[in-house]
Amino acid sequence: MPVDRELPTREAEDLIALTREIADAELAPKAAQYEREERFPREVFRLLGDAGLLGLPFAEDIGGGAQPYEVYLQVVEELSARWASVALGLSVHTLACFPIDRFGTAEQRRDLLPKLVGGRLLGAYCLSEAHAGSDPAAMRATAKRGDDGWLASGEKAWVTHGGQADFYSTFLRTPDDTATAGGGRHGISCFHLTPDMSGFSAAKPEEKMGLTGSTTAAMRLEDVPIPRDRLVGAPGQGLSIALAALDSGRLGVSAVAVGLAQSALDLAVSYATERETFGRPIVEHQGLAFLLADMAAAVESARATYLVAARRKDAGKPFSRQASIAKLVCTDAAMKVTTDAVQVLGGAGYTRDHPAERYMREAKVMQIFEGTNQIQRLVIGKSLAGEAARAGR
Ligand SMILES: Cc1cc2nc3c(=O)[nH]c(=O)nc-3n(C[C@H](O)[C@H](O)[C@H](O)COP(=O)(O)OP(=O)(O)OC[C@H]3O[C@@H](n4cnc5c(N)ncnc54)[C@H](O)[C@@H]3O)c2cc1C
Repeated sequence: MPVDRELPTREAEDLIALTREIADAELAPKAAQYEREERFPREVFRLLGDAGLLGLPFAEDIGGGAQPYEVYLQVVEELSARWASVALGLSVHTLACFPIDRFGTAEQRRDLLPKLVGGRLLGAYCLSEAHAGSDPAAMRATAKRGDDGWLASGEKAWVTHGGQADFYSTFLRTPDDTATAGGGRHGISCFHLTPDMSGFSAAKPEEKMGLTGSTTAAMRLEDVPIPRDRLVGAPGQGLSIALAALDSGRLGVSAVAVGLAQSALDLAVSYATERETFGRPIVEHQGLAFLLADMAAAVESARATYLVAARRKDAGKPFSRQASIAKLVCTDAAMKVTTDAVQVLGGAGYTRDHPAERYMREAKVMQIFEGTNQIQRLVIGKSLAGEAARAGR
């Protein structure tokens, strides 16, 4: 069932209608097969780019769609309702464009951004390392000062679009810069890397439980020469750039999670109205209808959390805590709703004849990436403590 959305403009309504059309015609028919074959749908991203959907929250003067975040996120949710891997890809691409959009020089914004948000290129975001996921300040991959820039070595782990992307927003230690020599949180800088750079290559993709249409691979840096103009922001500003990007990125993941949960709910409701036991459709058994009611409550309340955070962001208000709340609530809701959808379908739900089991596998990782849900609780807790301290409590 199409979600009845409250959209701020007529243009946004048209955008959602266009997204549904594309999602029904181009994503839904391919999703199950590509996921089964672990195939990355590069051509689908080109199509989304041509339709103007890869640059929605960016300014018009650099080729973006100038849409409020609340509209962009609902587009992500609509795509996710048909194919979560693709919606996640859009969210990661937006995350990868963020550093240059927000922290790039006038030249980088002018020369690079139109290409990045224009639809032909796809981005990736390289923050995590094998030993540094929840604690990115523990990263080791390093860019040392060279004659005309830096020389980078190390390995970034878990890169969504690793080996498939056209550009990589990459965070590396820069120990030779005076501003960053102290190491730790302040010793990290952000770089714009491209796959044509010598010594920069992808490892074999990870074999994952779900989201198998979304390639995830480590990226190796073997003495990669990085020219000066590839530094984004100031030396040592990398971790703040990474964390600021993640505030917005978490909202993208929240929208992906809600789209997936909505699909699982729709599937469960449709099955429950057709499947009969004890002489009537299972939806007429109160015990089962209550399960569906809880699923619907989880989906709608989760959607509300990401919209609240997005509207704060659109209004220029702080939204970091609300983004963490949305990520926690939406991804936990997706896990619960997809698990319950399998239950509603009974034995059929446990087979690959229906997408319920795939939805459940896809939901799990959403509680893990872009900050695990334990880390979201840490962020929310710190924010509450900070607020209490400021209020002198
Ligand atoms: C499919 C997939 C795609 C990904 N895509 C990207 C990407 O594009 N770019 C990127 O940079 N990264 C990406 N990641 C990495 C992801 O962000 C990390 O996996 C995640 O941050 C968790 O880090 P970790 O796996 O090292 O777990 P760990 O940090 O080792 O955590 C292990 C467990 O300990 C818990 N834990 C850790 N510290 C604390 C604490 N202080 N308090 C309480 N509990 C704690 C965690 O919640 C978790 O349950 C991806 C991961 C996956 C699986």
